[in-house]
Amino acid sequence: MSFVVSEHKRNFLHELPKCEHHVHLEGTLSPELLFQLSERNGIELPESFPKNVELCNERYNNFADLQDFLDHYYVGMSVLINEQDFEDLAFAYFVKAKNDGLHHTEAFFDPQGHVERGIPIETVVNGLNKACQRAQSELNISTKLIMCLLRHLPSHDGIKTIESAKPFYDQGIIHGLGLDSSEKPFPPELFIDCYKLIKDNHPHAGLTAHAGEEADPSFITNSLDLLNVTRIDHGVQSQRDEELLKRLAKEKTMLTVCPLSNVKLQVVKDVKELPIKKFLEFGVPFSINSDDPAYFGGYILDNYLAVESRFQLTGEDWVTIAKNGVDGSWIDEERKRELHDEIDRVFNKYRDLI
Ligand SMILES: [Zn+2]
Repeated sequence: MSFVVSEHKRNFLHELPKCEHHVHLEGTLSPELLFQLSERNGIELPESFPKNVELCNERYNNFADLQDFLDHYYVGMSVLINEQDFEDLAFAYFVKAKNDGLHHTEAFFDPQGHVERGIPIETVVNGLNKACQRAQSELNISTKLIMCLLRHLPSHDGIKTIESAKPFYDQGIIHGLGLDSSEKPFPPELFIDCYKLIKDNHPHAGLTAHAGEEADPSFITNSLDLLNVTRIDHGVQSQRDEELLKRLAKEKTMLTVCPLSNVKLQVVKDVKELPIKKFLEFGVPFSINSDDPAYFGGYILDNYLAVESRFQLTGEDWVTIAKNGVDGSWIDEERKRELHDEIDRVFNKYRDLI
């Protein structure tokens, strides 16, 4: 996909301090790192899998559907074995996103996808946490980890996973809970027990869930009412329900929108079909995110540029989007103020040029 954006606007969007709230760390595994880890760990890739980086990139450009993507995604996961692999995976994403102007990220990971392959949750979390520490000290990026439950697995497996992650929640190493994987057959009400368990045991944990990517707006309403989430991942189908849009605006519930992912997985044909203007008009807060950037053709800046190329937003609109992303983050007031000031500084630098 190519995005025509003026040079000044491009530089402005590049420098604009960004927060990302919807990125699956397993979805940041680049073909380069995938082949490197498969060699390092002696993992043989399936016969049908592309043989080199170039073929892999080409294949990723042509997913037939969600299942086709997931088939490749799970092969990718299979090369992650040791703590070091998880650290390398997450740190490579932090470095890439830093180059895109990322200042803060709240990143997902899927422990069930590793535990079922015999990788202990400790290996996963310790490796990711090491990368988070380095992101703070070496790159000046603040981070939070959000554990996601796979909704195609039964909720009792989710309960087991939450129990096994207890020490990490207690220490603040894992901050939030999310819900991902195929949406339509697995509505939010299946996971009431899981969200209740987290709320009871870890009242300060942040709660979110994928909802309204493909499924109808009731998935969003039920996530809010039954799971008590304070944020919705994707949520683009809320555009079909004006009462819900008003509620999201009133309650300041942030949607984590993923433009390029929506195109790749055929939620929309083109980014221009997304309800970006409608959200701005209704005052619904949203952030712009990359979802599974190694598979969907772009990291966070590409997603910003895709939106700009289709909607030609004003500098003020972009400041609103960036600040809503800060305010919707699970960070303290001091960090929020710091990021707001930095957004104002960048806007003032570019305001006469864009
Ligand atoms: Zn997602």
